[in-house]
Amino acid sequence: MDDARDARAPEKAKSSNERGSATLPPTSSPATGGSDASGPLPLPRHGHELPFVAPSSYLRPAARTMADKVSAPSPLDKEQMQGLRGIREFLKVRTSYDVLPLSFRLVVLDNDLLIKKSLNILIQNGIVSAPLWDSRNSAFAGLLTSTDYINVIQYYCQFPDQLNEVDQFRLCNLRDIEKAIGVVPLETVSVHPMRPLYEACRRMLKTRARRIPLVDTDDETGREMVVSVITQYRILKFIAVNNEQHTMLLKKPVGELGLGTYTNLATATMSNSVLDVIHLMVKHNISAVPIVDEEYKLLNVFEAVDVIPCIKGGAYDELSATVGEAISRRAEDFAGIYTCGEDDRLDSIFDTIRKSRVHRLVVIDDDSRLKGIISLSDVLKYVLLHGEEDDSIRS
Ligand code: AMP
Repeated sequence: MDDARDARAPEKAKSSNERGSATLPPTSSPATGGSDASGPLPLPRHGHELPFVAPSSYLRPAARTMADKVSAPSPLDKEQMQGLRGIREFLKVRTSYDVLPLSFRLVVLDNDLLIKKSLNILIQNGIVSAPLWDSRNSAFAGLLTSTDYINVIQYYCQFPDQLNEVDQFRLCNLRDIEKAIGVVPLETVSVHPMRPLYEACRRMLKTRARRIPLVDTDDETGREMVVSVITQYRILKFIAVNNEQHTMLLKKPVGELGLGTYTNLATATMSNSVLDVIHLMVKHNISAVPIVDEEYKLLNVFEAVDVIPCIKGGAYDELSATVGEAISRRAEDFAGIYTCGEDDRLDSIFDTIRKSRVHRLVVIDDDSRLKGIISLSDVLKYVLLHGEEDDSIRS
C-alpha cells in the first residue's frame, strides 16, 4: 500500500471547510401564530396576549423554515451549479472530434481474427480495446473491450472441456459466446465525430459504455468509417484542461455530494484468485475491485484491463493465480492507483484528472481504510445530470 500511495497517489487534494450550509435550524422557536400558520387558530383567551396555539401548530412554521433552509441554495451551491452549467455549455458547443489529439494512431481489428491473437496485438500495442471491422461487408462491427475477454473466461468456466474450441474462437464469435453464457449483449453505440460532445456523453451514460467509437461515412464509397474511439477518461481530461474557469467553481466535497459508491463495495484480498475477482466484477457489473488487507486498508485495485495480460496466449488455466501475482505483472508504465478523502473537493479531483492518467479514485480515510470508490462514470454523470430536471439518462 505504501508503495502504491507514495509513488503514485496524487498529493491529497485540499480539504475544505466551506461546507454548504445544509444544517437544520432548531425546531423549538415558538410560533407567533402569524397569518401564515396553516389552519384556523382558536380565539384568544382572556389574559393571553397571543392566541392559543396548539402544540402541533408550533411545528408548522418551523417545519416550513427547515424545508426552506434545505432547499435554498447556499452561495457554494450556486457557484457549483454555475460551474456545472458552464461545463455543460462547453460540451454542447464542442464536438467529439475536438477531443482527438492532432495526431493519433488507431488499431482496428478484423472480425475474422482469432481471439487468442487479438490479445497479443492489444498487449504489443499497449492498448486495452479496439474497434472491430467486418471486412466481408465493409462495416463497423463493434468494439472489443476487456468485457469480451471476461465473457470468454466465463464461457471457459461453464464449458471447461471445450478448451480446444475456445482456442479457435474468432472475434466474430463474441456474440455467440454472449448468447451461450446468457449475457445480455451490449448495445453497440457509436456517434458521428461532428455531433456535439454532450451527445456522446449522454449516450455513454445511457448505455454504461466507458468508451464510444466515432463513426463517419466515407464521402466516396458511402461506407462506414471508424475515425477513433473516445473514452470517459479522455472526455473528462478535455473538460479539465479546457475548463479550469468552471471546474474551479466545483468546491463541494465529494462526500457531501455523495459522489461515487460507499455501500456494498465489492472488495478482494491479495490471496484471492483472479477468477474470483472476475466473478465479482461480473456479478456487480463493475470494472474494478479494491484490494484490501484484513483491516480493510487499501492495498491496490484490480481492474478489468488487468485480465488481458493474465490470459495472454490463451492461458485460461492461469486464472487460478492470485491477485497479487497478477498485479505484479503490470506494465512498467502502469498509471497507478489514485486515492482521495471524503473531504476532498471536486475541483481538486479535476486538477488531478488534468495532471494525471486517472481512471477512478478510491476514497479512503486517514488510516487508509476503504470508504468508497469514485468511477469516472460517477463524475461524468454528476457533471452532466446533477440538478437537471430530467436527470434520467434517456437521450
Ligand atoms: P465502473 O464500472 O467503474 O464504471 O463503475 C460503475 C458504477 O459502479 C459506479 O457507480 C461506481 O461507483 C460503482 N463501482 C465501481 N467499483 C465498485 C466496487 N468495487 N464496488 C461497488 N461499486 C463499485
